Formats: sequence, C-alpha cells, structure tokens
Amino acid sequence: MTIARLSDLSDPALARRLVIKVGSALLVGPDGVRGAWLAGLVAEIAEARARGQDVIVVSSGAIALGAATLGLEKGGRGSLADAQASAAVGQIALSGLWAQLLGGHGITAAQMLLTLEDLEDRRRYLNVTATLTRLLDAGAVPVINENDSVATQEIRFGDNDRLAARVAQAAQAHAVVLLSDIDGLYDRHPRLPGATMIPLVSGVTADVQAMASTDSNSGMGSGGMTSKLQAAQIAELAGICLVIGNGQHDRPLARIIEGGVGTLFVPRGKAGARKAWLGGRLKLKGEIIVDAGAAAALGRGSSLLAKGITGIEGIFSRGDPVAIVDADGTVLAHGLCEYDAAECAAIVGLHSSAQQAVLGYAPRSAVIHRDQMVLKS
Ligand code: GLU
Repeated sequence: MTIARLSDLSDPALARRLVIKVGSALLVGPDGVRGAWLAGLVAEIAEARARGQDVIVVSSGAIALGAATLGLEKGGRGSLADAQASAAVGQIALSGLWAQLLGGHGITAAQMLLTLEDLEDRRRYLNVTATLTRLLDAGAVPVINENDSVATQEIRFGDNDRLAARVAQAAQAHAVVLLSDIDGLYDRHPRLPGATMIPLVSGVTADVQAMASTDSNSGMGSGGMTSKLQAAQIAELAGICLVIGNGQHDRPLARIIEGGVGTLFVPRGKAGARKAWLGGRLKLKGEIIVDAGAAAALGRGSSLLAKGITGIEGIFSRGDPVAIVDADGTVLAHGLCEYDAAECAAIVGLHSSAQQAVLGYAPRSAVIHRDQMVLKS
C-alpha cells in the first residue's frame, strides 16, 4: 500500500513520516512573523503527531526575518553578505518561535542547520540520517534550515525545496509537503487564461518540467516552480511522494489533505538508498559526454563504455560522482566513475581491445558500471 491520493497523507499506515516545508512568505509578512497563522500550522503538526506520524519541519524565513530586524533592503537578498547576516539574526528568532509554539503542545523542537555538503558527502549524509532518526525516536520535531550564514554561493542549496527533498531522503520519509503561495502545479503559467491545476503527477517527465514557470510569486523566498520540480525529482528517485500545496490559508494541511487541493507527485519506482543519494546529488565532480548510441544504450540499462564517450569535463578521481551528458548537455545519468579524469580522457572512443595499450593495465569492464549509475531522464 502506498500513497495514491492527498487524503492518504493523514494515514499513519501510509505516511508514517512527513517532511513539511514552510516558505518564507508564509512565515513572515509585512508586519513581521505571521504568528497566528503559524500557531494554526503547529496545531496541525501536533494533530499529525497524535495520529502517530513523525514530522520534520523545513523552515525558511531566517533571511526575511533577519533583514527586517537589521533594516536591510531587498528582504536581505541584495547580496550574499546581506543574506548571511540576515540569516544569522533571523535564525535565532525563527528557532525560538518554533520551539515556543511546539512546546505549547508539549512537543520538543530540535534545530538542525545543514549545508549542501552535509548532504552531498555520503558519510555526512549518513550522520544526518542517524541524528534525524534519533531525534524522531526520542519524540522531537526537527526544525531544519540551510546554514545560510556559512554556506557560500557555490555550495548553497539556496532554496529550501530541494533541501526538504534531500532531508526526506535522509530521513526515509514517506512524503514531503511543500507549503507555498500557489495551489499546485499548473499546466501553464497560472495567470494565463485556461490554466488548469494538475492534481496528480506520476513521474517528473520533460512534459511536466515544461509546465514550470520560473517566477516565484512572493519575491521573498527563492524557490519558484522550477526548484519545486527539482525537489519532486529528488523525492521521486527515493520513492517518496511530494505535494505542492498552498499554505496561505488557515490550517493549510487540512485544506490540502482533507480538501484535496494540491498537486501530488507519486514516484514511478524506487531506487536503492545509495542510488537515490547519488541521483539526488546537486554537485558533481565532472561530466562525461556521450554519443547518441551510448545514450540509447544507457536508457536500455547498459553500463557506460569508453567507445561511446566523446569528451570529458572537470577533474575527478576514481570513484567520484560525475554526470553523464549528451551532446546537447542534457544530463542523462549520474554515476561513480571507475577511472580518474586523465585516464578517461586517454581512452575516449576506444574499444576495450585498444585500451590496455593506453592504460598500461587491463581495462575495467566499464567506465561507469550500471550498478553505480542512476538514470536522470
Ligand atoms: N534558507 C532561507 C531562509 O531561511 C530560505 C531559502 C528559500 O527561500 O527557500 O530564509
């Protein structure tokens, strides 16, 4: 039995562990924290816990809140330095608020601030899993945000949508609910005539991605539909459902779950835990460019052989995660490479019979074995 409709999200047998992501514009209004609204959401979280569901919160809002306190313009997003300073100030208030409101229901809040690298490095990722599991077992509600004050531009998630999906993977959650300022995914820009909301998406295909409009309505968060679909892809790979729903209403979870208003993304299948982690990685060490024949073979489940490779980008070592891309730059797969970048470059386009002379040793069976690869499209 798996989640098939929004109403299943309140069933602890189907959705035992939920990740709920709250966007900045929901938490922070022109007059500061939207305390009454947040109290309503926290009451819903307490109800979910009483039903036997574990809840992890991914809360944005630190930058928006801190910027207001410091009087910085553009909501603290004018520069990286402004965002980092704002986050440092806002995060204290944000955690305090969650701790206070959850505490009002007898629930202990636990703050975790994560960077991209905490979830990209396999050992640190497993550490996050262990901490989350322990906290949930001990009855706490983890409240997570990106550690914006230390993460530099290159190593940031930058949006909490993908962070929430990665956290769900690490926590082996059953569903992620992205509370946003829009009802769900529309088949075209929601302001265009005839735009229709899609209630159910089975697999984030290229057609689905084409529906995303890039603008974020509030201008306060940094998400937008593109990052939400990326989050849906990360969740899908791990066999986790994801919901995009409107958080602007009082008791937003009830409107989505009981009212059935939102877009539910159900996964087509489930990759193993290691492949899910690999496929959800956002930063890779390099790229291997392949020809059309190799691209087709990968799609049929084959390993990547040197003869189908046309080029190598980046500097990577044996065992590093790399992207496999086609001639247009479309990412076809992520995989762990059996050779370092220089060895790969030396055997580009060669049949295995010709590789030994170049490498000086017997070639491995593949450049990336299919067991160490996860397809992305
Ligand atoms: N981590 C950011 C914050 O706390 C929010 C990122 C986002 O907009 O998704 O303000």
